Amino acid sequence: MQVNLSAYDIHKGPLILVNGAHPFIDDHSQSLDHITQHYPDVLMERQAASLLQLILIRLNAVNSIVPVSGYRSFYEQSVIYSDSLKENGLDFTLKFVALPGCSEHQTGLAIDLALNSDHIDFICPDFPYNGICQAFRKIAPDYGFIQRYLTSKQSITKIAHEPWHFRYVGYPHSVIINKNDFSLEEYIDYLKQYSIDHPLTFTDSHNKIEIFYVAQSEQVIEMMDDALYQVSGNNVDGYIITQWNDDYA
Ligand SMILES: [Zn+2]
Repeated sequence: MQVNLSAYDIHKGPLILVNGAHPFIDDHSQSLDHITQHYPDVLMERQAASLLQLILIRLNAVNSIVPVSGYRSFYEQSVIYSDSLKENGLDFTLKFVALPGCSEHQTGLAIDLALNSDHIDFICPDFPYNGICQAFRKIAPDYGFIQRYLTSKQSITKIAHEPWHFRYVGYPHSVIINKNDFSLEEYIDYLKQYSIDHPLTFTDSHNKIEIFYVAQSEQVIEMMDDALYQVSGNNVDGYIITQWNDDYA
């Protein structure tokens, strides 16, 4: 079976890297949904929203963990950036607020979470490393989420430590990133050594999953006829193919 890759798809999919060097190219094609009915204005990409909801239900945390900020349009990000400049100054803003066009929130794949309280800070919500928040952190990779901005990766991500910001990348990428202590930048780079003939293999109790990189210059790849696969752009220079083989177990 031939799979056609179109150049534009480099900028789409759960694995796109969006940062100061790689802006989000918005074609407004995201399909958005709310995470819980309690917060109808906080939206995420549909699949990310439903998986986040599943985590909150599993942890019985629908009332204790608050989705503070999910999808933002370019305009909303611009307003947040300029308001933060006025209120918090340049140093703070550069640390915690991405430039308009360069925010993961514009993709619909990012979410800021807070421990529920009377006073929730919109830019830096409290999401501590204990209790229910830490329980969330622990199981988030099983549902495709990673904590995106760690102190140890600040020199790579150019964003300060954000305990509250989670990014949907999809399973099993989230588990691999977490296990190897990668930033998303490092993971995107790491995958470039894996090709359709030499894929990265991930196994869990149900699946054998193969992951590989395809350069931008390729327009067609040849996959097995019954392959169950996902194509995501990396928003840099190619595609990441994830292929499930579910008769493995
Ligand atoms: Zn955020």
